[in-house]
Amino acid sequence: MNKNFIKKAIELSKDSLEQGKFPAGAVIVEGNKIIGTETSSAYPHQHLHAETKLIDKVTAETDDQLGEYELYTSLAPCLMCLGKIYWSGIKRVYYVLARNDVNLKYSYEGNHDFERIVKKLNRKIEFIQDKTYFDEALEIYRKWEKSIR
Ligand SMILES: [Zn+2]
Repeated sequence: MNKNFIKKAIELSKDSLEQGKFPAGAVIVEGNKIIGTETSSAYPHQHLHAETKLIDKVTAETDDQLGEYELYTSLAPCLMCLGKIYWSGIKRVYYVLARNDVNLKYSYEGNHDFERIVKKLNRKIEFIQDKTYFDEALEIYRKWEKSIR
């Protein structure tokens, strides 16, 4: 775990918000090296989340599974991104804001139990919440919430 990568994910979420998009930032690293970064997409490509875009990009560049890489995100991944993470081979994900830290009225989809789904996967993926930049991440997220009301 490297706090600089968490910080980078938060900075990207801020960039994403400033570009009028959902405030998500994602960073894929190998050891101590950043391999790629991404932000969200705008309508009508709102299904292209930072995590899915980044996994596609890095997979295309490496032409391989991402088992040796770690993902850092500003928010816990949604179900779609969880699927992508699963298929990419990534084994560890660090995130700042959990589903329940944000207003579920505006984010995520339904009331699925993320932890229960992760436990049932055939391949283990570690999800680790790091709250070092929690207040910054929440402030950025709340700005986005205000912008859509
Ligand atoms: Zn997602």
